[in-house]
Amino acid sequence: MTLPSGLTIERLEQPPFGTNTYMIQAEGERGVWIVDPSGDPASVFGKLTQWGREPERILLTHGHMDHWLGARAIQDQWDVPVYLDPRDFHLIDASAGRLFGLSLLPLPRRVTPYEGDTLTLGDHQWRLVDAPGHSPGHLLFLGEGHALVGDVLFRGSIGRMDLPGGCETTMKKTLEEVVLTLPLDYDILPGHGPPTTMERERRENPYLRREGWLTK
Ligand SMILES: [Zn+2]
Repeated sequence: MTLPSGLTIERLEQPPFGTNTYMIQAEGERGVWIVDPSGDPASVFGKLTQWGREPERILLTHGHMDHWLGARAIQDQWDVPVYLDPRDFHLIDASAGRLFGLSLLPLPRRVTPYEGDTLTLGDHQWRLVDAPGHSPGHLLFLGEGHALVGDVLFRGSIGRMDLPGGCETTMKKTLEEVVLTLPLDYDILPGHGPPTTMERERRENPYLRREGWLTK
């Protein structure tokens, strides 16, 4: 989708876990951001070719393996850094897929902390917001009326809290203090499944009801 501001956000659903990889480009900018590259790097290459662009950086919402397992293939073509919150560095582990029957995963190179709490692509500013609970170093990316929310929030659901680094108490705090403060007109781009809106989730997501799950 291309926004009136000239920013394009592309969602590519990837195997083996239906993880959404997002590609973000701005009019007049050569560099493309690749968010959470998962198991089908060929689809990312195809989109880059179609756009006639190159990756500028790889951004991870968090460190679970289905959000980075395609990073190395991209780095084998272009020497781009991978940004991740250091609280999730320990999750970058070649054996992280064993739990799911996957063999050793190709590890990304040059995994580096974000520099500050904003990201700039051309004229466009994105804000990084702490959102732990699904993992300790999970971040949201907010910009242009959109929130890339990784595995914190899905359409009608929320992320698991039983994976490595997950914590239910922390997740509830994140939902109450971060997610519920997002503007109602924000488009929500989750790490799995279809896009949604904050307005829809406030109305229909059982995990966001103050009188429901959050107060238990
Ligand atoms: Zn995850």
